[in-house]
Amino acid sequence: TAPAGAVRARAEIDLGAVRDNVRTLRARAPRAELMAVVKSDGYGHGAVPCARAAREAGASWIGTATPEEAFALRAAGDRGRLMCWVWTPGGPWREAIEAGIDVSASARWALDEITEAARASGRTARVHLKADTGLGRGGCQPADWADLVAAARAAEAEGALKVTGIWSHFACADEPGHPSIAAQLDAFREALAAVARAGLDPEVRHHANSPATLTLPESHFDLVRPGVSVYGLSPSPEIGAAAELGLRPAMTLSASLALVKRVPGGHGVSYGHTYTTPGETTLALVPVGYGDGIPRHASGAGPVLVAGKWRTVAGRVAMDQFVVDLGGDTAAAGDEAVLFGPGDRGEPTAEDWARAAGTIGYEIVTRVSHRVPRVYV
Ligand code: PLP
Repeated sequence: TAPAGAVRARAEIDLGAVRDNVRTLRARAPRAELMAVVKSDGYGHGAVPCARAAREAGASWIGTATPEEAFALRAAGDRGRLMCWVWTPGGPWREAIEAGIDVSASARWALDEITEAARASGRTARVHLKADTGLGRGGCQPADWADLVAAARAAEAEGALKVTGIWSHFACADEPGHPSIAAQLDAFREALAAVARAGLDPEVRHHANSPATLTLPESHFDLVRPGVSVYGLSPSPEIGAAAELGLRPAMTLSASLALVKRVPGGHGVSYGHTYTTPGETTLALVPVGYGDGIPRHASGAGPVLVAGKWRTVAGRVAMDQFVVDLGGDTAAAGDEAVLFGPGDRGEPTAEDWARAAGTIGYEIVTRVSHRVPRVYV
């Protein structure tokens, strides 16, 4: 939450939008449970408040990347099902097991470390075995799957662990019709068949991220795992605009103008003078920069609503500020500049910034730094 004097810049987070988005996503996957993904501080929106809002709207699971992110949620009082999936050798398995946090194993080294940690703690670990069905990132290759499953079966028989989940992740679900989608689902069904043959009976099978939750009912299985759509962003233009999908962006990033001044024509603006005023004009200083997560790649391109119109970042984004050219319009120091929001008050969206910076909306919201106070509404 924001200190009282947080006037320079703020990221307003609409938790009602988070709740509505979770309800919308649940309606898209009515037979599945929902895991709201809150990694990287809730894609920049704040993991703890967003997890709480998602739970209120019916998310029965919360997912994080790192164990530390999951521990922070437990410390904040979350008592529900929690899963985290990015592990390295020697990771805090025992702490996770004792906190009742579900962990993930893609390889024997991980399963062996989990089994050891469970034996040491005298508790049963809750483990999701991850198959690489084609993403080529995390997950166990088909050639090694039978060995991983057999080892899990033995550890389960011993009481060291329970295989609570079988899971995987899509490579191209945001490109409807991409041939890898059907291939990954086939590979997942084969991985599940091997698990059944081994006599394991997991609680949840899950493969669907946001685009799959929104467009691929056959990928829903027992649990869907949306992230970016929880925060109201579309996973890709091919899936549809946020509004078409019934999603409402939860973050509005705004700043107060720090300075407004007249300058003559031919005046270079910001480092490198990559912009020169075409004539006498009014410049406004927006006091946020790449230190706040504003992409420097959006220099000369990022859109900002100032004095009722979209302006474009003039020249380079610096660490703490950038400039917009108001032309013949006027504004005053203290006036609001809206960088992005839901778009319903005429402001740009995170997708507009993504286009300007050559990236994706995910990165725009996630990189808003901790120097920008979050204000929850
Ligand atoms: N599941 C896993 C393993 C992820 O890494 C992510 C995020 O990339 C998600 C689910 C959520 O994906 P999305 O934000 O596209 O819904």
